[in-house]
Amino acid sequence: MYDFDVLVLGSGPGGQKAAIATAKLGKRAGVVERRDMVGGVCINTGTIPSKTLREAVLYLTGMSQREMYGQSYRVKDDITVTDLLMRTQHVIGREVEVIRSQLSRNRVAMLPGLGSFLDAHTVEVSDGTGRETRVTAEHIIIATGTTPARPATVDFDGSTVIDSDGILRLERVPQTMIVVGAGVIGIEYASMFAALGCKVTVVESRTRMLEFCDVEVVEALKYHLRDLAVTFRFGETVAAVERHARGAIAVLESGKRIPAEVVMYSAGRQGQTEALRLENAGLAADARGRIAVDEYFRTQVPNVYAVGDVIGFPALAATSMEQGRLAAHHACGEPVNVMSTLQPIGIYTIPEISFIGRTEDELTNERIPFEVGISRYRELARGQIIGDSYGVLKLLVSPEDRSLLGVHVFGTGATELVHIGQAVMGCGGTVDYLVHAVFNYPTLAESYKVAALDAMNKIRQIERLDD
Ligand SMILES: Cc1cc2nc3c(=O)[nH]c(=O)nc-3n(C[C@H](O)[C@H](O)[C@H](O)COP(=O)(O)OP(=O)(O)OC[C@H]3O[C@@H](n4cnc5c(N)ncnc54)[C@H](O)[C@@H]3O)c2cc1C
Repeated sequence: MYDFDVLVLGSGPGGQKAAIATAKLGKRAGVVERRDMVGGVCINTGTIPSKTLREAVLYLTGMSQREMYGQSYRVKDDITVTDLLMRTQHVIGREVEVIRSQLSRNRVAMLPGLGSFLDAHTVEVSDGTGRETRVTAEHIIIATGTTPARPATVDFDGSTVIDSDGILRLERVPQTMIVVGAGVIGIEYASMFAALGCKVTVVESRTRMLEFCDVEVVEALKYHLRDLAVTFRFGETVAAVERHARGAIAVLESGKRIPAEVVMYSAGRQGQTEALRLENAGLAADARGRIAVDEYFRTQVPNVYAVGDVIGFPALAATSMEQGRLAAHHACGEPVNVMSTLQPIGIYTIPEISFIGRTEDELTNERIPFEVGISRYRELARGQIIGDSYGVLKLLVSPEDRSLLGVHVFGTGATELVHIGQAVMGCGGTVDYLVHAVFNYPTLAESYKVAALDAMNKIRQIERLDD
């Protein structure tokens, strides 16, 4: 009766995984996506380019080797945009190929163009050349993601005043930069440009940044960034940006005037729902273009689902993929679990941050007792070998049942290491497992055992006094 069992709008991580999961279940899957675009924000302008840029920065600046070879160590003295973007373009190209091949191997039909609803089962695809086709589907999954939010009062020109997409089009590495907004994207780019030797000023209207992270970890990050000549202006708001021939001046509400070659706005993101004509399907988005869903990613129209950034928090590639898979399974009538609430957060600043579970602040506010186990990389042989003297892993342990309540990592490999804690927590393990486990030596993973022993020693100390 319908052309497809599941039709997906958007080929970002959410859309891809939804389409492939549908095809794996033996159902007919189609993906509507702009011509010449595969992989969405994730592959083309977001996750993959930014993480590749970070890798290029780390390599070319020689930053991670300076502990060993001295503060003046560099792989290349004059790092150009070409050096940085060469690697980025290479990885984007490869990733696009991988995704194209996965979709075609699984016989997912690609429908080039922008999709919009005619009704809850019918989508019109406009291919940009004036040609429009209609396709029908039993289920439709909206995975159209977001674009950078652009305050109407700011005159973006793509070279002096930019959003995060503009980073990949910079013509040279600026010597000075203002980052407006200390969210994850803003602070990741601030740290990359600071590592390149650019003097970065971060302006954030709130008094803190990354409030959802461990306070000590954020303090450590700020210390490192200040050491790289980053200036923080917390509790300050940019009132206007004046554009000049050779740069811009950000005028703060407090009256301060900050000059810079480039001003990058990182002021949140807006759901890409405007072109969808949601009203034809009986749907609406909120003021930020977001669509509300239930725990199975169903919208209020039962055959229409929405996944990924378009549904809002946590707006990560990692979660979008799983949401896409679960939505497709639900649409295809497969038994599905609701998504685990135990999800890691990775922040690819320099140095990187990752955590899973609760923070000390959350536990304290909820009056849940915990003990802290700490391991510092400099006390690990591996930390010495790689020259990471600042890294730290922190375990939050329940003194009552010894379960792991949270794992917080700062430093080399944080975003990988966190998954050991995730596995223990997800399988209902306790700190005892980490105390008794033997880890490869010398590794950073060993930090789990050191931190577990530290937590256990503290718990034992209290137990002894209590006796
Ligand atoms: C700078 C930056 C760094 C990031 N770093 C990370 C990271 O390190 N880790 C992480 O997990 N996440 C990261 N993210 C977030 C991650 O990129 C997003 O969470 C992820 O891409 C969202 O996937 P999605 O499936 O919602 O769709 P998106 O990737 O947003 O793609 C949506 C797709 O839908 C298409 N589309 C839009 N409208 C229509 C329409 N009407 N018809 C058809 N197609 C349409 C678009 O062309 C686009 O290709 C980062 C994001 C940015 C911007």
